Amino acid sequence: MTSGPSMLLALADVTKRYQTAEGPLTVLDRLSLTLDRGETLALTGESGSGKSTLLHLAAGLDRAEGGRVLIDGADLGALNDAGRAALRRHTVGLIFQQFNLIPSLTVAANLAFHARLAGKSDPAWQSALARRLGLDALLTRYPEQLSGGQQQRVAIGRTLAARPKLVLADEPTGNLDEATGDQVIALMLSLVAESGAALLMVTHSQRLAERLGRRIHLTGGRIL
Ligand code: ADP
Ligand code: MG
Repeated sequence: MTSGPSMLLALADVTKRYQTAEGPLTVLDRLSLTLDRGETLALTGESGSGKSTLLHLAAGLDRAEGGRVLIDGADLGALNDAGRAALRRHTVGLIFQQFNLIPSLTVAANLAFHARLAGKSDPAWQSALARRLGLDALLTRYPEQLSGGQQQRVAIGRTLAARPKLVLADEPTGNLDEATGDQVIALMLSLVAESGAALLMVTHSQRLAERLGRRIHLTGGRIL
């Protein structure tokens, strides 16, 4: 596989199996995929087709049984646990359907959390994110005092505050009603574009997938 300077993420012939009570289950079957810097890509597929599995591999959260995963030129298979953790912290940002905010921290502290961990605190960028995400009046609240849409806006702000080069979002609006979800996606797309990050977003909404431009569909462990 050639890895040019514009390529941020590459999966090459990746095979992922799970051991189940019924025997081994091949979820990804020699799957290949690349994502360039600043590119946005929608990943669709039926429930159980392996979308979350693919995202976990792309985040370095899980290991494949075969093939290679490269993030920003680094081969995950060649890194030790510490190397993978550092790459995740500095390069990858994750946004999940279950917002995963830290309940004991205020909105402001949640927003600051990942950037601080990555050693990339940037108060001006964080304030800009809070303003753009409509969170200015909510900074002293706790997650349980927020609506779902507000919580997901915090989760997006927290992720982007650390300026990841790669944002991986797994059905980020799956827990929101359609109107709220559309607003959150619109905000997320414009902020991702502004930050120059690449985005790989899992969705089962055709409508949302179309907004991202390039789209791939996962079926039978391969990309259609
Ligand atoms: P999707 O996100 O597209 O709904 P997943 O990637 O979550 O699909 O799951 C793909 C398949 O792998 C499903 O059949 C699921 O049951 C199975 N699976 C996912 N995680 C595990 C696991 N940790 N152990 C065993 N099977 C798993
Ligand atoms: Mg999933």
